[in-house]
Amino acid sequence: MSKPKVAFYWCASCGGCEEAILDLNEGILDVVAAVDIVFWPVAIDTKYADIEAMPDGSIDVCFINGAIRMDDQEHAVKLLRRKSKAVIAFGSCAHLGGIPGLSNLTDRVATLSRAYLEVPSLDNPNGVVPQKVTEVDGGELTLPGFWNRVLRLDEVIAVDYYLPGCPPQPDTISAAVQAILTGDLPPAGTVLSPGRNMCHECSRQASKPEKLKIAEIKRIHQVLVDPDECFLAKGVVCLGLATRSGCGEKCMSANMPCRGCYGPTDGIVDQGAAFLSAFAALLGPGDRPDLGEVVASFDDIAGTVYRFSLPASLAHRGNLMKNKGEPTP
Ligand code: SF4
Ligand code: SF4
Repeated sequence: MSKPKVAFYWCASCGGCEEAILDLNEGILDVVAAVDIVFWPVAIDTKYADIEAMPDGSIDVCFINGAIRMDDQEHAVKLLRRKSKAVIAFGSCAHLGGIPGLSNLTDRVATLSRAYLEVPSLDNPNGVVPQKVTEVDGGELTLPGFWNRVLRLDEVIAVDYYLPGCPPQPDTISAAVQAILTGDLPPAGTVLSPGRNMCHECSRQASKPEKLKIAEIKRIHQVLVDPDECFLAKGVVCLGLATRSGCGEKCMSANMPCRGCYGPTDGIVDQGAAFLSAFAALLGPGDRPDLGEVVASFDDIAGTVYRFSLPASLAHRGNLMKNKGEPTP
């Protein structure tokens, strides 16, 4: 029997998801022995033309990481969708928009301006900003169009399964690969990690407070937190309240709070709203006289509670951000 054909592709992301595959360590040898990798631009020399020449549906599983913001990304994922029986959104950016999705707090022009004209470390004396078409001696140079908004993968193509995480942890990947190889897969649309929230698997859970008596919200560098102490007890925001488990409490074991990369639990659409709702309940009754000061001490609320999921938020889904411009070039 021939081996399953597998492809990997990379859109708007940092490259960490590609590294995560290598983090399987020697386990990657089992993967390579069990599947036929037909496309993986970061690791093997295959071309788009090779994929275009394949019959539709001839790739068994395609893992795509990264959000979608450019014309070439849209073209590649639509091609891979056509050629693949199953597509897996691999990692936070493909799943929920991820860190690149925070750019949806602003628009395309402001994003390019910040990156090419304002960042203090820039060396761009002529103020060059990338354009889709540039006239040069002898012709035109073109770049892929840069969209006004960052989209989740499933806003552009149909997605069969989601592997959460920034990046997905080796156990999450191994379990998914095993399920694919054996055909023991849950219904389409499933996120391949447990559906309960992080607090259920956190070794600090015993010290999680019923009510928060904090006077202000602190950042992790401002306090000392004991290795078995819930971060919330010290007033440090921990997204574990509203984050899917399955990473093996990766951050807490390094004495850092959960920042939410595994996304919302089953049945929750808006991870940031779910966190704020649970956090407000812990803060106590609205008549607490100092509540305004506590809330005012919460720096960068959107960047904290939607760090990985802004393009999946209700504000994005409801197009409330459209006043920042059109969603495509
Ligand atoms: S809030 Fe964070 S530290 Fe506290 S129990 Fe939940 S995951 Fe653990
Ligand atoms: S603890 Fe939270 S932020 Fe850290 S890897 Fe796990 S899900 Fe991601």
